[in-house]
Amino acid sequence: MKEIKLKPCPFCGREDIRAKIMNHEGYDVGIVFCINCGAQIRAFNSQAEAIEAWNRRAEIVEDENE
Ligand SMILES: [Zn+2]
Repeated sequence: MKEIKLKPCPFCGREDIRAKIMNHEGYDVGIVFCINCGAQIRAFNSQAEAIEAWNRRAEIVEDENE
């Protein structure tokens, strides 16, 4: 399976980001969170979706900084 690279945290800038699958009420959901500051995106249907959403958010923050 191809690994998708996680962008650095949009809040603290660290690259200690983890993606994982959690079981929520009987369903597997994907979440992405920052180990350093605890920032987290909500659960998505799959890990890939969660990673995409994380990366999109990181891009938005980068744009705002310019
Ligand atoms: Zn962070």
